Amino acid sequence: MKDKIRTILKERNGFVSGQELSEGLGVSRTAVWKVIRQLEEEGYVFEAVRNKGYRLVTEPDLLTKAAISERLSTEWAGQEVCSFDEIDSTNNEAKRQAEIGAPHGLLVISEVQTAGRGRMGRPWSSPAGSGIWMSLLLRPSLAPIQASGLTLVMALAIREAIVTLTGAECRIKWPNDIVADGKKVCGILTEMSAEPDRINHVVIGVGINVTDDSFPEEIRDRAISIWQVCGQKIQRAELVAEILKTFERFYEQYLQSGDMSTLLDAYNAALINCGQTVRVLDPKGEYEAVARGIIPSGALIVEKDGQTREIISGEVSVRGVYGYV
Ligand code: ATP
Repeated sequence: MKDKIRTILKERNGFVSGQELSEGLGVSRTAVWKVIRQLEEEGYVFEAVRNKGYRLVTEPDLLTKAAISERLSTEWAGQEVCSFDEIDSTNNEAKRQAEIGAPHGLLVISEVQTAGRGRMGRPWSSPAGSGIWMSLLLRPSLAPIQASGLTLVMALAIREAIVTLTGAECRIKWPNDIVADGKKVCGILTEMSAEPDRINHVVIGVGINVTDDSFPEEIRDRAISIWQVCGQKIQRAELVAEILKTFERFYEQYLQSGDMSTLLDAYNAALINCGQTVRVLDPKGEYEAVARGIIPSGALIVEKDGQTREIISGEVSVRGVYGYV
């Protein structure tokens, strides 16, 4: 009954009388009032006016299965959701679920990660209430070598979703970060289980800073939230649904061509350091070069002393000459 009352009030977008609710649902007015109180305890805010009834004013920013599912318009991405208050890492949980047969498109999401990770085991700060910490499980019919491109597909989908919902001025830092004002809004960590010639599963982990107004000392110089960028506090479930919808569309394009060719122009247009000098942190030696954009394999082309080089993600990081971007 709680879900029904919530849905009616949400869809009406105006006052609904207690009588209409009680008659429509075949319950007493007191039962309706009790449900309204319960919803208020969960963070919903209602305006209650004598003779008019209740009007939903604001919804809490929840990341529950229900909050996501009711906004979802995908065929398969996120059609199954496992949501947690706290988990070690959503990537770890998605991998555990994959091992016991979870389907393509499973979304694992948590309010808190106690051991969130970035690339090469670096820690990812994942506090409660302000971010989106989620992982999408995929079972693509691709060769293992094609899996790393899925990081780029996700980066493009996230950037597009953020721009669609907020208009925030954000770009992609190759291969796996979304940045704004020279700082990181979002990081992506893709992990894979594969045989030599086939993929068992791919897990794409996503961490997005959404409503934070401050960060721990160690990352303050490089972390930023969507709210800090554009002054909008969006509903996290709304952003999750928009990302999944966009990802699904781009993913089908990636599968069809088997590479980034049909997404190439969009990706390069969103790339922050295209045409700029960057610092390439290659474990074999750092150097400066001009970034020229990606090629269909997802590799970044850089130009140094008139010669072009292909950078393949792996262990290499790209930085701005004077800072993180
Ligand atoms: P690369 O350029 O290779 O991606 P990176 O330093 O951005 O390098 P990642 O693995 O993408 O590395 O992300 C991990 C790093 O991100 C951490 O070492 C930390 O500096 C930073 N970080 C951790 N938590 C957050 C967060 N919530 N928001 C932004 N940045 C964070």
